[in-house]
Amino acid sequence: MKLHEYQARDLLARYGIPVTGGGVASTPAEARAIAEQIGAKVVIKAQVFVGGRGKAGGVKLAETPEQAEQVAAQILGMDIKGLTVEKVLVAEAISYQKEIYLSAILDRATKRVMMIASAEGGVEIEEVAKTNPDAIIKIAAHPQLGLLEYQARELAFAIGLKDGKQARQFAQIASALYRVFVETDASLAEINPLVIRDDGSLQALDSKVLLDDSGLFRHADLEAMRDPSDEPEAERQAREAGITFIKLDGTIGCMVNGAGLAMATMDVVKLYGGEPANFLDIGGGAGKDKVKAALQIILADPNVKAVMFNIFGGITRVDEVARGIIAALEEVDTQVPMIARLTGTNEEEGRRLLAESRLIPAATLAEAAQKAVAAAQA
Ligand code: GDP
Ligand code: MN
Repeated sequence: MKLHEYQARDLLARYGIPVTGGGVASTPAEARAIAEQIGAKVVIKAQVFVGGRGKAGGVKLAETPEQAEQVAAQILGMDIKGLTVEKVLVAEAISYQKEIYLSAILDRATKRVMMIASAEGGVEIEEVAKTNPDAIIKIAAHPQLGLLEYQARELAFAIGLKDGKQARQFAQIASALYRVFVETDASLAEINPLVIRDDGSLQALDSKVLLDDSGLFRHADLEAMRDPSDEPEAERQAREAGITFIKLDGTIGCMVNGAGLAMATMDVVKLYGGEPANFLDIGGGAGKDKVKAALQIILADPNVKAVMFNIFGGITRVDEVARGIIAALEEVDTQVPMIARLTGTNEEEGRRLLAESRLIPAATLAEAAQKAVAAAQA
């Protein structure tokens, strides 16, 4: 789950990171009112889930409340990389000498939380990685003790902060950002830019936080911040039905029980020259309602030319799943060819039931994938 900039900013503030205040507006008049309250030059920023808003014209300065109203009118409703701006953040404009980059991410290679910093902030870090990789400093936090004080200071010195007070403040911010990352089950906590103000102090001007969906059950307060536009409609429906679903770009819809089996199914589809339209794990105990919901989600994608069921009956018996599929098919109106490979407990009975339906049976995963690929190409 993604947080909007203003939500991420509030989260960082809770951990003592200096951020710019201000408020969120959905109309130009609201933007004007916030600017009046601030009583100084403001920055108006589009709240959309993409980076590079600055370059796209989604971040603008305004000298007066009148100007804030005009600028907000320009930005609200604007299209940035395919997303419509519904809200803007109006915050005091900060003047600064320098932009820094700082983030905490999970580094899968070292299996640690990696702190990343660069003296070249303000631009996207991927750009810096391409043009000047040496300007990116990485320090892995200790797996048990967390980000140690000396590590945070090392990060400060490595990006050239020589002034003691400044290095100390940077180290505090880095430690706080590390705690944000760990305590919210984030997969990314980023400040870009972190600026050095004219008085030498540091301040976060833009932040980005991505939360691990699997950790959200522990954070009802963060879950409540979810913006539905963050999530494709099909993924929302799947989440509500208790189905794990990720849309992909292929033509073969996959309905599988078990995440590992779903991965294997996608691999085999690709092996036989097909492209999966989705990852879908229907989970355990897949009865009629769940199968129906899953089918509707898969078939809502106009790219889907064939559906492949790959079900392993362990605790859930194959004949039960077969009944679920048959009952669901009675309620879902579709001509899309469907191939079923069902194996495990009570598979004979399951096959017998399916033989009477319009599903195309397959004895093995390989056969099912080949039939699905052929059906999708027909
Ligand atoms: P992004 O382009 O989507 O990452 O949005 P940012 O919030 O990082 O804004 C892009 C750029 O706008 C920053 O790198 C700054 O140069 C500028 N900017 C943002 N906030 C302020 C501010 O308070 N004062 C000034 N002077 N510039 C700002
Ligand atoms: Mn930024």
